[in-house]
Amino acid sequence: MDSANPCLICTDLDRTLIPNGPQPESPRARPLFRALTARPEVHLAYVSGRDLGLVQRAIRDWDLPEPDFILGDVGSSIYHRYADDWELWPAWQDTIGPDWQGLKHDQLAALFTDLDALRLQEPEKQNRFKLSYYTSGDADRWKLVREMEHRLAAKGLKAHVTWSLDETTDTGLIDVLPASASKHAAVEFLIEHRKYDPRLCLFAGDSGNDLPVLAGPVQAVLVANATAEVRAEAWDLAQARGAAEQLYLARGDFLGLNGYYSAGILEGAAHFIPEIQTWLEQETKA
Ligand SMILES: [Mg+2]
Repeated sequence: MDSANPCLICTDLDRTLIPNGPQPESPRARPLFRALTARPEVHLAYVSGRDLGLVQRAIRDWDLPEPDFILGDVGSSIYHRYADDWELWPAWQDTIGPDWQGLKHDQLAALFTDLDALRLQEPEKQNRFKLSYYTSGDADRWKLVREMEHRLAAKGLKAHVTWSLDETTDTGLIDVLPASASKHAAVEFLIEHRKYDPRLCLFAGDSGNDLPVLAGPVQAVLVANATAEVRAEAWDLAQARGAAEQLYLARGDFLGLNGYYSAGILEGAAHFIPEIQTWLEQETKA
């Protein structure tokens, strides 16, 4: 591991790097994470359901290190740094674009205008390859999702329709993405196209849409604040896919850290990458 052969840490934000869950954060964890990722041979990617603006807000609000890449909108956009700004990576757009057969966001939205249960989300929550709606928390979500899938398929479009619940407002959230766009696909695309050594790559997550990456071939860590259900599900999935060696479940008690949030990311990075283990040990002794 050196500047010519860097490692790549990819991490989810909410409740993985950002300590916005019920468990306490070890006070030394984020400063250590910032110090580690400040090293030139350590590259950093944020992989989030948030859009670019909300990722930038999280960086400011939580004093997170500036990443090298932002894989936003649940993997439907990849941004890289360009002249001190963020630029969409066209190669990724070209990869996922054919699923929608060149249809624009608005043309896709036109398929659903008569569905009264759907309300378009604000413009800043939409992008070229993400069509997002609100529904009331009590809408018949299965019926709605099936109807949307049916209409997309009838047009020959390949898309994922996902439903989730914002528990704080009891609002249903529906996202329509190209079928080939996901956190998992975006992470693998980044590793492959920037030619990172897979042994020096790591993904960290805590829940739902992180599971396919956690249980896939990329080395991955599940932070210790994940629920028991997610731990069991990630472990079972990884076993079933023969990828158990590539999954590490953070447990805490590592360098006096508790394994929650960034402490778990550090623990996993040390597990997979010996140079990081050595560096962290030296840093915490100093
Ligand atoms: Mg999360």
